[in-house]
Amino acid sequence: MSICFSWAFLCKQSVVYAEEGDAQDKTTDSVGEGQEGVHESEPDQIVVVIDPGHGGENLGAEYEDYIEKEMTMIVADAMKEELEKYEGITVYLTRTGDQELSLEERCEYAKSVNADFLFCLHFNMSEYHTLFGAECWVSAFGENYSKGYSFANVEMEMLQELGLYSRGIKTRLNSRGIDYYGILRHSRERDIPCVLIEHCHLDQVNDQPFYDHNEKLLEFGKLDATAVARYFQLSSDKLGVDYSNYQNLYVDVPSSVVAPDKTEPDVCIIEVLDQNMENGEVRVQVSAADYDSGMLYYTYSYDNGQTFSQLQRWPDKATDTFDFTMQVPPHIVPQIVVNGYNGYDLYTTSNMVSLPSMDYKTAEEIAAEIASQEALEIASWAIASGKERSQFARTRSVTLNETEKPISSTYFLTVCIVCALLVLAMTISMILILSGRKHKRRKKRRKRRRPQK
Ligand SMILES: [Zn+2]
Repeated sequence: MSICFSWAFLCKQSVVYAEEGDAQDKTTDSVGEGQEGVHESEPDQIVVVIDPGHGGENLGAEYEDYIEKEMTMIVADAMKEELEKYEGITVYLTRTGDQELSLEERCEYAKSVNADFLFCLHFNMSEYHTLFGAECWVSAFGENYSKGYSFANVEMEMLQELGLYSRGIKTRLNSRGIDYYGILRHSRERDIPCVLIEHCHLDQVNDQPFYDHNEKLLEFGKLDATAVARYFQLSSDKLGVDYSNYQNLYVDVPSSVVAPDKTEPDVCIIEVLDQNMENGEVRVQVSAADYDSGMLYYTYSYDNGQTFSQLQRWPDKATDTFDFTMQVPPHIVPQIVVNGYNGYDLYTTSNMVSLPSMDYKTAEEIAAEIASQEALEIASWAIASGKERSQFARTRSVTLNETEKPISSTYFLTVCIVCALLVLAMTISMILILSGRKHKRRKKRRKRRRPQK
């Protein structure tokens, strides 16, 4: 296994367009529509054409709310506006709205205005959303290569100053051995230098801060314009800048095709410099080299390549050897490997280094331990306070019983007195009743004796 990322996805739509777009039969009526001064540039003026990639049905890369054809249009408008602040330059756009144009139409339009250069603006996306950074594609042939490379060098330097990672200035060929990207192929056929600028990746968190706001797209436009101004050594009274002494990189006109790199990095070796048994940090030294396209990224694994980290920037492209520190989880046998990637996203896997298992506690484990300790303390406190409460309840009930005793004896005495009084009252009334009956009987006996007179 060697190729990890299919570079057919380097620019999803432009790849498709490059291979198939040529056959599309489209009207040229809308090309450069609405632009004043077409064919009327002054003799000594530099003429450049800006091509906002994609358009119409051809959306380009799409990710979340980002649509490439809209973004390239915003950048292109800003680039034109900025460039027109310089003296001695005439600027055209291949499209001013949402038109769909073939790649050949775009190049034909550039030819029709005698363009000195065609700048093709794009945003990128990768198959697994892993790649990040900016890159420029140039023709692999003759002056188109040397002029393209020379401008791309200015552009890439500025994109790096902005903070983007450079994926390089590259060529690519199709199966017929000519430029893969149609825009480069057709502009070369018309003898127009051309550069395809992939500003950054729309689907990668590393690049997102560079395009997540319209203002940043306008910044890209200004940056592209400044790169053009530097390359053509322009000046602007309006902006108060003078690039007339700007030194471009001199690039020899190649005598043969500048072929892309099709082989993996030549070497990738690792050595473990240090293993910290207390916290799981492992310091790894990487030595890797690619003598064709240089080194670009690396990824690392602690499970012998079953899983890998995200792509990491190669710390210094001028250096083959560097070291980095990785975190290895505890209770496993670490088997360290590193993949080193070259400028064409091809990788070589390093040797594997097996290490003794580490039994340190992870931050999560320490946090869980603290949490369970706290839970235990809370539980024991609750039990202790529960005991105290029941003790208190018992004490209270004893106290209550003691105080209730005299209350119930008083009550008992009262009841006894009331009962005794009742009994006494009843006895007295019985005596009275009985004495009353004896008196009546005596009276009756006296009455019976009286009639004998
Ligand atoms: Zn594109």
